Amino acid sequence: MRHLLASASVLATRRLAPSVSLGSLAKRLTLCMVLLAISGCGPRPPDGDVVVLVSLDGFRWDYMDKAATPNLDRLATRGVRAERLIPSFPTKTFPNHYTIVTGLYPAHHGIIANNMWDEGFQSRFTLSDREEVGNGRWWGGEPIWVTAQQAEMKTAVLFWPGSEAPIKGMRPTQWANYDSEVSNEERVMRVLGWLDLPEADRPTFVATYLSLVDDAGHRYGPNAPETALAIEEADRILGLLMEGIAAAPLEDRVNIIVVSDHGMTELSGEKVVVLDEYVDLSRINVVDWAPVLALAPDPDYLDEAFANLQGIEGIEVFRKENLPTRYHYDGSDRITTLVGVMDEGWSGVSSDFLQSQPTAFEGATHGFANDVESMHALFVAAGPAFRSGMVVEPFENVHIYNLMAAILGLDPAPNDGNLETVRHMLQ
Ligand code: AMP
Ligand code: ZN
Ligand code: ZN
Repeated sequence: MRHLLASASVLATRRLAPSVSLGSLAKRLTLCMVLLAISGCGPRPPDGDVVVLVSLDGFRWDYMDKAATPNLDRLATRGVRAERLIPSFPTKTFPNHYTIVTGLYPAHHGIIANNMWDEGFQSRFTLSDREEVGNGRWWGGEPIWVTAQQAEMKTAVLFWPGSEAPIKGMRPTQWANYDSEVSNEERVMRVLGWLDLPEADRPTFVATYLSLVDDAGHRYGPNAPETALAIEEADRILGLLMEGIAAAPLEDRVNIIVVSDHGMTELSGEKVVVLDEYVDLSRINVVDWAPVLALAPDPDYLDEAFANLQGIEGIEVFRKENLPTRYHYDGSDRITTLVGVMDEGWSGVSSDFLQSQPTAFEGATHGFANDVESMHALFVAAGPAFRSGMVVEPFENVHIYNLMAAILGLDPAPNDGNLETVRHMLQ
């Protein structure tokens, strides 16, 4: 009976969703009514768990205290919340999203930054280069959707970094090219539509991505009222997803994991390092700018550039082989010979940039070292696999891959995480 009621309420909910086939739902409802008459159509026998992974880009660990977030609060009460989720170095969007789904530190999965150069490919990767973003050659390791598909499961991934590229020759079963114009409601409806597919086609791993909180954070800063509004809107969207799942026949099997990739901190016009005051920028290829500067000086200028960039307030410049081990930023040829790490809130620029973009320091950003607390992120999860009403200590995002693999009953690929760090969250 519960199944029937749930199906009916799914129908009611789906009236909002043009992308979901009412015909197939009606067919299933009718079939269930017939079966009920014959045999007392109970709930489907319990099958494996489903994971729905949602990223709220740039949702800082303390944002739940900065605005009304009734849906996240409810999820946390029902399940597990981490005091903070510790992102990987550097605290940028692509490296961290791909770490979350592979369990590998950025230097070990290859997406070491949002902007990078590969000497072997003689090619540059940037987020706006659709071709390179969708080119599997950049993406190492094994994302959870590939692990799941190798075990004959279906997956559906909407806009998660990496999902547009064939990795190990595979894309998610369902995926789409990134389109920032697709509304957040539409993203939720597509996820609900996938969860509503017939059992044989239904994905067991579903992921989606919302950028509104990061967008507002950059523009207005982490403490601005506009950012609080974006936090509330993200929570409302999450509420739509939670309601839709609660109305779906498989609701008892769904684990919702809400994460973010990093936090946010204010910039300041007082905290600016102008690089060409110290080095000759015509002899350095700057592959990526602050907060982590990827500097590739001409080989015969390397030692001099390194020496000139020491002892400057607001920036610490390392040779790649001497980066602090806690960053795990090692083993990738894509890391430049010098890496400059800005102190929290500091910007590294050229004098040309400073002149042409004088307002660049009015907003906020992320990308600083991952031990800077304002870079820390969100983790809230609930569902049948999770214990209830639990708050856990901060943990690193490399462990989430193993956590999801355990919930889905998958054998994880080799990775940098350790299930033991997070196992206590599980029932
Ligand atoms: P960041 O520069 O690290 O703040 O990156 C956040 C930005 O990445 C957001 O504004 C998104 O629009 C953008 N973004 C997210 N996913 C993708 C994608 N798959 N392809 C291109 N850009 C993306
Ligand atoms: Zn981000
Ligand atoms: Zn951002």
